[in-house]
Amino acid sequence: MGFTEQMTDFLVQHQTLLRFGAFAGLLVMFSLLEALFERKARSAKRLQRWPGAFGLFVVGGVVSRLLVAGITVGAAGWASAHHVGLLNWAQPLAPLFAWMIAIVALDLAIWAQHLAMHAVPVLWRLHRVHHSDIDIDAMTAIRFHPIEIVLSLLYKAAIIAALGAPVGAVILYEITLNAMALFNHANLRLPPWLDRLLRAFIVTPDFHRVHHSVEMAETNSNYGNLLSFWDRLFGQYRAEPKAGHARMTIGLEAFRDRHDLLALMIQPFKNALR
Ligand SMILES: [Zn+2]
Repeated sequence: MGFTEQMTDFLVQHQTLLRFGAFAGLLVMFSLLEALFERKARSAKRLQRWPGAFGLFVVGGVVSRLLVAGITVGAAGWASAHHVGLLNWAQPLAPLFAWMIAIVALDLAIWAQHLAMHAVPVLWRLHRVHHSDIDIDAMTAIRFHPIEIVLSLLYKAAIIAALGAPVGAVILYEITLNAMALFNHANLRLPPWLDRLLRAFIVTPDFHRVHHSVEMAETNSNYGNLLSFWDRLFGQYRAEPKAGHARMTIGLEAFRDRHDLLALMIQPFKNALR
C-alpha cells in the first residue's frame, strides 16, 4: 500500500478525533498564547464576545450536521467512486502530486469564496457577522453565521466533486484550514522576522488582522486563509493597516454593541450601511 493510501486510511479512521483534537487543542493553545504574547490591547472584555461566538459555533455545528453532514468528504468519495472530476480524469497522476494540486486548488476556491462573501451584498450580510467582532482573537475564528457555514460547505462540496479531490487530501485540507483560521485570527505577537518569513508563504495574524479593520478599504483586502500568494497574485494584498496594528480599530461601524447569540443570529436580517 502506498503512502497516500496509508495516509487516507489513517485520516478516514481517525478523522473525528483528529478534527476535534486539532481544533480544541489549538483554540486553547492560541487563547493561552494570546494572553502571554498579546499583539493588540483588547477593546472589550472577553466575556462580552466569547459566549456569543461559542453559541454560534454550537448552533452552526448542529445545523450543518443536520443538513449537510459529511458532505465534503462524501463528495470526494463519490467523485472517486464514479470517476468524476479533473484529477480523476487526469490519471495516471502520482497520488502525492494529486494531493498537492487538490490542496492548492481548494485554497484558491476558498479565497474566491471569501472575496464573493464581501462583494455580493446578500452574502456580505451573512459574513459581516464574523467581521462585526470588535476585537480579533482565536475565538473570532469560530464566529460565523450558521447559514454561511452551510452555504460554504455546499460550495466546497461542489468544488471538491468538480476537482475530483482525493478523500485524504480533503480531510487534511479541512484540518489545516481550521488550524490556520485559529492561527491567523490569534491576537499573537510574532517576532517581526518570523512574521516576514512566514507571510512569504502563509497567512499570519498580522496579515489577516488588516482584513478585520473598520476601514472598508482594508476590510476588502487580504482574503487569504492558508497561502498568502493569492492576494498578491490578484492585487488584493495590503501589508499593514494605515493606523498600525496597535491603534487600528477592529470591526464594523454599524454593529458594535451586541455580541450575544441572539443578536448575532438575527444580524444578517438587520439593515445597516456597510
Ligand atoms: Zn472576510
